[in-house]
Amino acid sequence: MQPHDQILLILDIDETLLYAADRPLDRRPDCQIGPYAVYLRPYLTDFLNQVSQHYRIAVWSSSSPEYVDAVVDTIFPKWIELKFSWSRERCINRYDPELHEQYYIKDLKKVRRQGYHLERVLIVDDTPRKVERNYGNAIYVTPWFGDQNDHELQLLTKYLLQIRDQANLRRIEKRNWKSRSQL
Ligand SMILES: [Mg+2]
Repeated sequence: MQPHDQILLILDIDETLLYAADRPLDRRPDCQIGPYAVYLRPYLTDFLNQVSQHYRIAVWSSSSPEYVDAVVDTIFPKWIELKFSWSRERCINRYDPELHEQYYIKDLKKVRRQGYHLERVLIVDDTPRKVERNYGNAIYVTPWFGDQNDHELQLLTKYLLQIRDQANLRRIEKRNWKSRSQL
């Protein structure tokens, strides 16, 4: 991969692109995946259509492989060729002694081993802890639980189109990304 190559954009699924509810909300879901009533985040289709023209797209979720496959089949347009769709099998299991709980980490070392330069990789997630080893590559979105007035993906589209020509994405301060992509 060369510095001028398209950036690899790794997308989380749950609460980032959609909300998979155990119990349906007070409106009809957009689709059903396994036992879940699935609601798509506003502007999802437009986001995928626009961003995939400028970025290589991949998916990485800490859910099960079956769930990830089903989501990819259901919500991604067929013409978007995903570079990979990874599940929790590629995550690292960590234990937080303070909170007494297990959690998953997405370590971009595994992406680098596929031949990608991390200067040209972005990972979008609603849970900062899952990308704690690679915060320099991360764009954090607000977790989404069904609010129909949410504009996050519209803002994110605009932001990603703004920064797509940057050579080293780790050098960009991304924590304030929303203020830089006002509609
Ligand atoms: Mg998530």
